[in-house]
Amino acid sequence: MQIRLISDVLKDQYGEKIYRLALASGCTCPNRDGTLGVGGCTFCSEGGSGEFAAGPTTAQSIAVDLDAQIAKAKALVRAKTHGERFIAYFQSYTNTYGDPDRLRALYLRTIMRDDIAILSLGTRPDCVGDDVIAMLTELNRIKPVWIELGLQTAHDDTAERINRCYPRSTFEDAYRRLKAAGLTVIVHLIFGLPGEDEAAMLGSVRYLASLNPPPDGVKLQLLQILRGTRMAAEFAEDPWPVMSLPEYADLLVKALRLLPPETVVHRITGDGPKKLLIEPAWCADKKRVLNTLRKAIAEASDD
Ligand code: SF4
Repeated sequence: MQIRLISDVLKDQYGEKIYRLALASGCTCPNRDGTLGVGGCTFCSEGGSGEFAAGPTTAQSIAVDLDAQIAKAKALVRAKTHGERFIAYFQSYTNTYGDPDRLRALYLRTIMRDDIAILSLGTRPDCVGDDVIAMLTELNRIKPVWIELGLQTAHDDTAERINRCYPRSTFEDAYRRLKAAGLTVIVHLIFGLPGEDEAAMLGSVRYLASLNPPPDGVKLQLLQILRGTRMAAEFAEDPWPVMSLPEYADLLVKALRLLPPETVVHRITGDGPKKLLIEPAWCADKKRVLNTLRKAIAEASDD
């Protein structure tokens, strides 16, 4: 089994390890503000599925606070690296949803910094209209721009159950236009969503593998049920089986085997906040989880 991990790919490209700086753009999400839905995807916490952003969350304060956010985020990774180049990672909420002029100015300012090597934006496929793609294409001429689409599942029935509020056809349309514009697209999948068995989860991976061109990257994670979410209430009322760490490791290896060689693996597990975690409780021991998963991948790579 041949797996390309993003850490290795970046080391080859830049000659050093490149760390992500978790930043906030001040955007909200159409699935939370009432435009498409209220309350968001049922697994999504108040932090908009990105609790580690180092900055403010109001649009007004972002422009003036970008430098402070970057300084704070750098301080958080300083123990791990002496490198001077980073990925500006706008993860939480929907980072292409908002006033286009404000977003263009923010991202232009970010990408022009010497310490930023890559701009990475988490978003929804229904928030990448042609105007947004034109902006991203302009930025992509300066430095690489990664667009991270939270598909989570390829199955529309599961998508409805988790209140994702868009069908797979919307993803396909956005994916096609982003790839046609030459952008790097990373797709997120969540394993362990309610109602999905192994065949369904691997079906989502097979779906990604069937896309032409294949995704540039994938982020895989196991569902983490977080306090305060709608999913937590659903789980308390009618719990479903939660995978053990060995079961997840086994599933992960099966999923990785299905990916095309062009698709780089950006994540193999989730990074939700420990203080909000309900299940799987073993996810809280991130070091043990990563060691177990890396060992399972290494063993499978020898096959
Ligand atoms: S699209 Fe993202 S930010 Fe919006 S509700 Fe879903 S997970 Fe949360």
